[in-house]
Amino acid sequence: MADARPHYPGGMSSAENLAVPDCLFCRIVAGQVPADLVAGTDRVVAFRDINPQAPLHVLVVPRDHHADVAQLAAVDPGLLADVVALAHEVAQTEADGAYRLVFNTGAEAGQSVFHVHGHVIGGRRLGWSPA
Ligand code: IMP
Repeated sequence: MADARPHYPGGMSSAENLAVPDCLFCRIVAGQVPADLVAGTDRVVAFRDINPQAPLHVLVVPRDHHADVAQLAAVDPGLLADVVALAHEVAQTEADGAYRLVFNTGAEAGQSVFHVHGHVIGGRRLGWSPA
């Protein structure tokens, strides 16, 4: 049977073995939920946010499931570095390298999907504060 999973540069990793069945972003990584893919490696994937808040609004996720950025930093700091590197690469391509990288952490801070993701936001002048 044909492999229906999307192709990513670097190929699939064994991370799919670490997927959480009910996790939306695990399902996107596995190709079970469609997404507008922007870039990827064997460890991280970037796709467009379904509800963009700026001309550039991409989510960067590790293929492995980690609930939030603190958990990821504790368990696999190199993978967090990969998330940041891909975020920077996307922003260089699409926003001349000027961007905001946001990790909402905890429901009270607005996190709604508990598979760590960095929001890469740019493409216009950004105001402050984000509250
Ligand atoms: P959070 O609120 O920081 O957890 O961010 C979750 C983000 O996921 C939100 O900005 C949503 O718009 C986005 N989102 C939810 N479902 C999808 C989807 O299926 N594809 C792409 N982005 C999504």
